[in-house]
Amino acid sequence: MANFYTDNPSLKHHLHHPLMQHIVELKERNFADADHFDYAPIDFADAMDSYEKVMEIAGEVIGEVIAPNAEEVDHTGPQVVNNRVVYAPGTTENLNATIQAGLSGLSMPRRYGGLNFPMTAFIMTTDMVARADAGFCTLWSLQDCAETLYEFGDEEQRQKYIPRMCAGETMSMDLTEPDAGSDLQAVMLKATEDPENGCWRLNGVKRFITNGDSDIHLVLARSEEGTKDGRGLSMFIYDKRDGGVNVRRIENKMGIKGSPTCELTYKNAKAYLCGSRKLGLIRYVMSLMNGARLGIMAQATGLSEAAYREALAYAKDRRQFGKAIIEFPAVSEMLAAIKAKLDASRSILYETARFVDIYKTLEDVEKERKLDDAEKAELKKYKKLADAYTPLGKAFATEYANQNAYDAIQIHGGSGFMKDYPCERIYRDARITNIYEGTTQLQVVAAIRHVLTGSYLTQIQTYQAETLRPELDPLKARLTKMTNTYEKLVAQVAETKNNDYIDFQARRLVEAAGHTILGYLLLSDANRDYEQFIRSAEVYIAYGEAEVAKIQQFIESFDIDKLQYYL
Ligand SMILES: Cc1cc2nc3c(=O)[nH]c(=O)nc-3n(C[C@H](O)[C@H](O)[C@H](O)COP(=O)(O)OP(=O)(O)OC[C@H]3O[C@@H](n4cnc5c(N)ncnc54)[C@H](O)[C@@H]3O)c2cc1C
Repeated sequence: MANFYTDNPSLKHHLHHPLMQHIVELKERNFADADHFDYAPIDFADAMDSYEKVMEIAGEVIGEVIAPNAEEVDHTGPQVVNNRVVYAPGTTENLNATIQAGLSGLSMPRRYGGLNFPMTAFIMTTDMVARADAGFCTLWSLQDCAETLYEFGDEEQRQKYIPRMCAGETMSMDLTEPDAGSDLQAVMLKATEDPENGCWRLNGVKRFITNGDSDIHLVLARSEEGTKDGRGLSMFIYDKRDGGVNVRRIENKMGIKGSPTCELTYKNAKAYLCGSRKLGLIRYVMSLMNGARLGIMAQATGLSEAAYREALAYAKDRRQFGKAIIEFPAVSEMLAAIKAKLDASRSILYETARFVDIYKTLEDVEKERKLDDAEKAELKKYKKLADAYTPLGKAFATEYANQNAYDAIQIHGGSGFMKDYPCERIYRDARITNIYEGTTQLQVVAAIRHVLTGSYLTQIQTYQAETLRPELDPLKARLTKMTNTYEKLVAQVAETKNNDYIDFQARRLVEAAGHTILGYLLLSDANRDYEQFIRSAEVYIAYGEAEVAKIQQFIESFDIDKLQYYL
């Protein structure tokens, strides 16, 4: 029986990170739910045991149902019939199987029908689903919209919608329009108040909406007439049961073909304001997108896992020149690099998820009682870390998913170019990850702030201060050198005070920060489980070191007067 949790020891490694004790204690508020729900944990060990059990159930459904359906879903895809989406049969089967297994709404509080799981555990299911089928993963990870509804909706809205999502209803995030992509300030979908019916009315068009025929939509719309920027936008909840939104068409895409990407028309659609007016983009969508970016990081990591497994199996099986191709250093080197980038992606994914867990749980606690000074400082620290790591992790994991899928095809030779092997689908599916939820260029725009303000460096120094087993000292010394180079390059670029030049070098500086951080994270993994991670730590640090040297060469030899040729 295929089980995508038990066959992958790196998942258990990340689930049992030392910080989990603190996260679980925060999430469970002295394990008070145990008095009201017989399935609530009574202590930390009990909570970890329940995560383990659910991961095993999820791993089995994913391995036994979702993975075998992936090829059929990719070929059949969804259709539009009478303005409604009809999923591929495999997608419907996947949804039913996950609902029956009780896997919907894992991270929602128990009083709304969830299991109160930390984000770290929920995101692990996304990682596994993406390994099986990255197209279905888009529907799966949109459950995360419920986090935003929980965070910013009022109690009536929470009680109305969250139990439905926990029972298996789907959600979507309706932001993009033909003229508003990366620049969501340009959203024009019109929201007009309808005081007689105590609601709002939405009119306009959205495009590229994943699972756009979902049951519950979060919609970004212009509520303030005459405005043109983000301050005129609010967030609304649209309930499909009320009608008024039709699917005009489904996009014919390169990859994630099982995922319905919809163009939607809103005709006087009844909707309800979520949170306060005018904070739609500035506050709520920023939070929604940060959650969704974590989901894409997990999707990319799952894709890298799939690419690695396909490439490894093929390289062991295929023989040329009288031996298995894995015996050629040119092939085994590619495999080692894929594995190192996969392990590095997974490390930053779960590090970010833990940061998100701590700050979001403290924000939630703050709704119940005043935080003390230490808690306030902790919230501030982890919110900043989550803000810094989300764009960095999204950029790295998604670019690596693309590189890994590319190399997996290379290892398959001509067969990789055929539709006979899953790596062809994985390659097409990976391509979207560094585009949606903000392109890599937009992640760099967010991450460069943390380069220039020193947030990354401060965290690197925290990693440097950790005591490691002595056999890791040589790797640590190399990372110290990389850190010094990074610090020097940041100072060199920043001191020009030339914004065009800083923007031009931004991607390189963010990459240098990322290589250093990912190196430290793998070192910490190898410290906890030497056997499992030493190879990836060695390979990744050698790779990162070479990349940082290239970046150094480019920046140090760059003549700022030549900038005009690039702009
Ligand atoms: C399959 C799919 C599913 C999607 N699902 C959803 C969904 O569920 N909900 C939703 O609301 N949207 C969704 N989207 C939309 C997606 O988020 C956008 O396509 C994406 O954010 C990019 O916007 P754009 O396509 O308009 O590209 P543009 O914004 O036009 O970007 C074009 C190029 O310009 C670059 N660029 C733009 N601005 C800057 C800048 N300031 N600095 C540097 N470079 C810049 C970009 O990096 C890119 O290379 C989906 C898209 C696809 C393809």
